[in-house]
Amino acid sequence: MTISPDLNAAGFDTLGLAQPLLQALADVGYETPSPIQAACIPVLLAGHDLLGEAQTGTGKTAAFALPLLQKIDLKRAVPQALILTPTRELAIQVAEALQKYARHMPGFHVLPIYGGQSMVVQLRALSRGTHVIVGTPGRVMDHLERKSLTLNNLQTLVLDEADEMLRMGFIDDVKWILEHTPATRQTALFSATMPDVIRRVAHAHLREPREIKIRSATSTVVATSQSYCQTHSGQKLEALTRILEVEDDFDAALIFVRTKTATVELADKLEARGYSVAALNGDLTQGLREQVIERLKAGTIDIVVATDVAARGLDVARVSHVINYDVPYDTEAYVHRIGRTGRAGRTGRAILFLAPREMYMLKLIERATKQKITALTMPTPGEVANRRVAQFTQQIVDIIKTEKLDFFFDVVRRMEGEQDIAAREIAAALAWLATRERPLQMPGANDHAPREAASTPPAAATAPVRDFERKPEFKARAKPDEGSSAVEPRRERPVKEGRSDTPVKQRSFAEGATMQRYRIEIGRNQGVLPKEIVGAIANEAGIAGKDIGQINLFEDYSSVELPANLSDDLMDILRRIRVRQFALKTRVMEAGEFVDTRPPRRAPPAGDRKKPDWKKPDGPKPAWKKREH
Ligand code: AMP
Repeated sequence: MTISPDLNAAGFDTLGLAQPLLQALADVGYETPSPIQAACIPVLLAGHDLLGEAQTGTGKTAAFALPLLQKIDLKRAVPQALILTPTRELAIQVAEALQKYARHMPGFHVLPIYGGQSMVVQLRALSRGTHVIVGTPGRVMDHLERKSLTLNNLQTLVLDEADEMLRMGFIDDVKWILEHTPATRQTALFSATMPDVIRRVAHAHLREPREIKIRSATSTVVATSQSYCQTHSGQKLEALTRILEVEDDFDAALIFVRTKTATVELADKLEARGYSVAALNGDLTQGLREQVIERLKAGTIDIVVATDVAARGLDVARVSHVINYDVPYDTEAYVHRIGRTGRAGRTGRAILFLAPREMYMLKLIERATKQKITALTMPTPGEVANRRVAQFTQQIVDIIKTEKLDFFFDVVRRMEGEQDIAAREIAAALAWLATRERPLQMPGANDHAPREAASTPPAAATAPVRDFERKPEFKARAKPDEGSSAVEPRRERPVKEGRSDTPVKQRSFAEGATMQRYRIEIGRNQGVLPKEIVGAIANEAGIAGKDIGQINLFEDYSSVELPANLSDDLMDILRRIRVRQFALKTRVMEAGEFVDTRPPRRAPPAGDRKKPDWKKPDGPKPAWKKREH
């Protein structure tokens, strides 16, 4: 059977699951079965063998775990189900999922067993008795051979990620285990792909299996511009909020998560960070649901965090962004989700968060949407601060253009005279006051934020400033000796690429700090000169010339010596610095990447740098240049 996601799918309660399991699903906030769950659960509950073609992320664990749990006799602490997984990580993850779904099954016990863990610990745990074993094939075989594990009472055997087990060379162990379990068992085999070997195993060991496969979405060309951001779950919220801040043309966002609980949790977290946000999930009555949508339309809220089902049919023209905070089960669900933006002829924007293990979804989605999904990196604190400064600047510019400020000019002038403070200082203090609730600088942004803003002033923000400067009455009132006042005519200086007009605070490194070799992605072929690299690093990252060591130019990259163990923030800046339009993408050079037998050395004092008297033995010749400052 080939299935496609049914967005009108009924709830879990229609699948024949027992109350304790339904209760657990409600607790974890699952709203509706995923397509693979809707298809597999009834088949497995009916006792059929199953051959399922499904990837991680489709919800396959619950698809086999729930029916298996339903058949467990809690009174008998003997292994009644065995789940084989290719890796120890997956074994632990599956065991945790079972524990979660069995939370209303008192006395239930699941034991993960895998290679690498102490045998003594496992033998002790096995002797205490357990209902389900989740293990890697090698270790399960060991225990069967030692007779520390007996599977006479086994009812269910699940082979999870069978193609991975094949790839990792476990297939013979798997066959051996299949041959040493009761023939009466029910068997479910899940695999992301179905190579012939797996099919043959299924043929030999499964009884008239029902085949279930998630239909890959038919290709749809979408008008939405799509990006993805690879993050670990611990970073996701930070990445989301930073991205929301720096995205262009942000009006309103629909954020998709998997569970009801997650809608509420994420909405709460975003609210705490100052967003106007509401959760939309299946627990809301129709009336409340409509209220949320109305508030989104009216602009009283800007973000709705929803599950797929709750957002069904939502059509709000101002949704500029769809954020796939949790990856969808399949490409069709993805296409459905991103269809909620780009409404009313506007171009929409879709952002997808992927954990490293979910990266396989990228290709599938690109194929389904016939569009490249561009990579997005988490904006640095500096970038966020730049955006805040630009927005703040724009606000000021707008106020100057639209508000009558005569009274305030007088107030400022009086302050200048009476307190003897410059208008620039007054402006800075007012800026502080105005942004106290939402500081312009993020922690970690340091001093480079306003500097970057200065180097790339928002186009809209610069022109009106000149208008403002032209106001004759305002200029005339400025004190003639106030060269540094806020009304000082702005001198337009040519903005150099990646350079700022405001000096960056210099970072200090300990005398004699250990140096390390870093790789930067610009070299001779890009026409770069060592002095440009030094200049950019000194100006942009605030690393003094004395702390910059040897620079070697190769064809398409270069190496540069800098102090070792630079902070993440600084590395972030170094990665993003551009020289001749090329982002340096600075990273520590791996051992062996640079064929140089000498240890990194301390940077010699500036001005005392000599061409070294060594020659690189093989490989591309470094273009040695004496560094100029
Ligand atoms: P899996 O493909 O089994 O690794 O599951 C991927 C993720 O989806 C896990 O984090 C599950 O907790 C979650 N999940 C599975 N089924 C559902 C569901 N019906 N509703 C919401 N989340 C689910």
